[in-house]
Amino acid sequence: MTLCENCHAPTPDHELVHYGSMDSFRRLCLRCVNEDMAERCGVDFEHVKFEPISMTDEAGAKHEFHFATRLLGDIASVEAFELIDGSPGGYQFQVIDDAQADLWGLMAKLIERIRGALSVSYLRERRGALHIEGLSVGGQVTSGLDDDGYPSPVLVIDGREISWEDFGRMLSAFEGWQFKLEFVDRSEPL
Ligand SMILES: [Zn+2]
Repeated sequence: MTLCENCHAPTPDHELVHYGSMDSFRRLCLRCVNEDMAERCGVDFEHVKFEPISMTDEAGAKHEFHFATRLLGDIASVEAFELIDGSPGGYQFQVIDDAQADLWGLMAKLIERIRGALSVSYLRERRGALHIEGLSVGGQVTSGLDDDGYPSPVLVIDGREISWEDFGRMLSAFEGWQFKLEFVDRSEPL
């Protein structure tokens, strides 16, 4: 926990925003950032802080989702994410709407999105290794470091981080097959 430099509310690090310009920034909580943004943009926006909730996936594993409400100019965004070692990771979702939209309605949409994603799993463990269960696979592209410390794409599939190398190994089960790859904005359902 760190104190917000404006309202002094104790704030978990993943909810702190480095806010300001290059040479003068402050570490503020999301509420203070959103209130400042609303004032600058002349938008009527009321911040809502959603408490974490726990949901169970298709395989019975529990996932704790944290939420971040952000005002981005004339757009309101609510993000859901898990925490891995205190940082956002695992399953991540976002829904967006106009700044004036009802945030509780946006939250309901987000929960529905999460529920839909948790009801599907693309990977199965067999003989100690993960395999692609069916003929399609979906998730999110993030980044990490490879074994030599170089930046490398990392995929989050079923809420698990899968290294580029491990994903390559899973693909080898489909040698000789064709494939197609489609990218979808993170605010849209897969
Ligand atoms: Zn604050």
